[in-house]
Amino acid sequence: MHPVLCILGTRPEAIKVLPVVRALRCASIPTRVLFTAQHTHLAEEVFDLFGILPDLRLPARGEGTLTNTLTAMLPPIDHALAALTPCAVVVQGDTLSAFAGGLCAFFRHIPLYHMEAGLRTGVYDEPYPEEMLRRALTAMASVHFATTEQARAHLLREGVAPSSVACVGNTVLDALHAILPSCHTHPSDGRYRLLLTLHRRETDTSLRRRLLVSIRRLLDAHPAFDLFFPMHPTAKEVAQDVLGHTARAHLCKPMGPRAFYEQLLCADLVLTDSGGVQEEAAYLGVRTLVLRDVTEREAELSRGELTLTGRSPARVFTIANACIRAIEQAPPVDAEARRLSALTGTHGAAQAIAERIAQDVKEKERMDAP
Ligand code: UDP
Repeated sequence: MHPVLCILGTRPEAIKVLPVVRALRCASIPTRVLFTAQHTHLAEEVFDLFGILPDLRLPARGEGTLTNTLTAMLPPIDHALAALTPCAVVVQGDTLSAFAGGLCAFFRHIPLYHMEAGLRTGVYDEPYPEEMLRRALTAMASVHFATTEQARAHLLREGVAPSSVACVGNTVLDALHAILPSCHTHPSDGRYRLLLTLHRRETDTSLRRRLLVSIRRLLDAHPAFDLFFPMHPTAKEVAQDVLGHTARAHLCKPMGPRAFYEQLLCADLVLTDSGGVQEEAAYLGVRTLVLRDVTEREAELSRGELTLTGRSPARVFTIANACIRAIEQAPPVDAEARRLSALTGTHGAAQAIAERIAQDVKEKERMDAP
């Protein structure tokens, strides 16, 4: 049997795709992983955690323009497709790596399976460039795995054939369920914890600086709160400048997923512009403010699990301040209770995706048999 090839390049893709690689291999479907090294050490930690090594790895190139990053990936991905002749290519989300993998598969007429299909903000440059990349992937994919009914509805409204869309849920929950059992939690020390992540391109350095100044004001106003901020490389310099000498601001390198989940479990409030963190925090029941003007995580927003603050620093301060005041009326969270409760939740998207791919590739093999 020709292998299934999963192409990925960033930390969030690794977190969401590796559960599918595991499920495909458990179903005895030969599966290879091509890692584009769009993110290097951020993604490497996830491979280590899942105990899966990339079969093919493109050379790391460091930061470049979007065009340079994309065009450097295309020839080696195409070469890998020619050498491996996969029966299917799997990509996830809306990164440059997913787009490059999808485009090369499309050019070679290899069926493309797109995970996390149908997310839309409806604003072409938010997130940038992801909203455009995810729409382009919809145009190229043969099968679309939607995480929610809202995402499925977007695809159908855009004219995608219903039989090619499967609403399977979110593999980030499979990752959480794989990792939470080994997470350590500690009893509360009576202090409150604010967890921050910030990395989107559309929040430029000047806006980031002003947002961080607002967050510093929040810390000044609430002495019972500590801030934990694993700094994405894109935000490191400005973060150290604004918060580097602030008492109770704990700045650190990006964490591996297990350490990050441990932080989420004990967080009283999350401030984030990340896509994946919105989903994880909502699932774990952590109060979350989304520092963006729009979000494609509509299901979580409509269930009231997320609050959209916009990106005005003054507005972020006002909303977060009111939230923190409310939180201070109650004892800090019990991280262990949160962890145990999360483990009772449902998951299984990775299995559903693997089953659909296995069924398709076996069917194709039967049809191609002499
Ligand atoms: N994450 C992590 N370590 C960190 C911060 C985040 O492992 O220090 C994980 C987080 O659990 C989530 C993913 O990274 O699954 C989100 O990645 P990111 O915010 O970079 O991208 P997005 O989800 O916005 O595409």
